[in-house]
Amino acid sequence: MTNNNYRRVNTAIIEELREICGPSHIYVDEKKLEKYSHDQVPEVKYAHNPEVVVMPKRADEIAAIMKLANRYRIPVTPRAAGSGLSGGAVPVYGGILLSIERMNQILEVDAQNLMAVVEPGVVTNKFDKALDPYGLYFAGYPMSEEFCFVGGNVAENAGGGRAIKYGVTGRYVQGMEVVTPTGDILQLGGKRIKDVTGYDLVSLMVGSEGTLGIFTKIIIKLMPRPTERQAVLALFADAATAISVVPEIMTGGKFIPTAIEFMDGFCFALAAQSLKEDFPYDQTNAALLFEVDGTHADVVAENAAMIDAICREKAPLNNMRPLLNLKSTVYGKFANKSHGH
Ligand SMILES: Cc1cc2nc3c(=O)[nH]c(=O)nc-3n(C[C@H](O)[C@H](O)[C@H](O)COP(=O)(O)OP(=O)(O)OC[C@H]3O[C@@H](n4cnc5c(N)ncnc54)[C@H](O)[C@@H]3O)c2cc1C
Repeated sequence: MTNNNYRRVNTAIIEELREICGPSHIYVDEKKLEKYSHDQVPEVKYAHNPEVVVMPKRADEIAAIMKLANRYRIPVTPRAAGSGLSGGAVPVYGGILLSIERMNQILEVDAQNLMAVVEPGVVTNKFDKALDPYGLYFAGYPMSEEFCFVGGNVAENAGGGRAIKYGVTGRYVQGMEVVTPTGDILQLGGKRIKDVTGYDLVSLMVGSEGTLGIFTKIIIKLMPRPTERQAVLALFADAATAISVVPEIMTGGKFIPTAIEFMDGFCFALAAQSLKEDFPYDQTNAALLFEVDGTHADVVAENAAMIDAICREKAPLNNMRPLLNLKSTVYGKFANKSHGH
């Protein structure tokens, strides 16, 4: 036993794990373990090597691993893409690092019912791209969508720049298959909106950061994909005025923008200069970058114009802006340059 009452992984346990997952889906080599010792938190002091990495493909393999881990009292840490910033995927007690990277299939896009069933290791952006031909959309994704996995998004209840209008990942999780810490396989929720019998365990699992079970399938509610998008950049002499504009847009304008990014003057100047955009930096101490989207170009344009008018009225600095409405690509560039994550 170690100080934390967990046992060490010995060669007999590794042999059993090989039998469960197949010999090529296990790492014990120190060099390979290092990649799994940390998430995106850069400080080395938070990193910790696992004793073994296992890469199962199916729920029954995960169930067998959990039963083995209970039998020998070995800690198990699930890991998706490792893009987290809260240490959830770091195996602080060593033991088994359970990577879901091989569980990467989109199992079903049920376009007629606006539902999809995915394995947890599907890259979020790949999932969203696969929905595009259907005119559908997974709205709850974070800004790390190019490399994070849907399973990690659910376990962190992640929410990105568009959370203002669309909410966070949990809003779109309709059901799941979960392996419990004792190795049972549960089916929770379902594809029908009214699949609500019993305790709402789906909500409990969302955001549980790998502490309550390991998701092996996730049912995601989809939205019609917005086809129109506009961005508005607004400049302010002070942060208080910038912030006061936001409720005015929602209550006065009577609509919810898709995204609102706040930048202080320093970050704004850095982002704008790096993009070679010419703005009155010396007077800008706060900036707001709005995005509006929808399926009707005239409504989206009207919403963008409303934001622009309110910002001009509140902050005369906006009359000095060289650009009125920035294209969505510019929004993306700005958001990437300025976003805290
Ligand atoms: C550049 C950048 C931008 C980011 N932007 C955002 C953002 O806008 N919004 C935001 O919320 N976060 C953001 N993040 C943080 C991070 O990307 C998200 O939390 C993301 O959802 C984590 O997904 P992942 O696949 O990398 O999961 P990991 O980091 O691998 O794991 C996260 C947690 O999920 C658990 N887990 C993994 N798979 C499973 C499973 N199958 N079953 C149960 N538990 C599991 C792990 O144990 C861990 O606790 C950002 C990170 C970076 C580096």
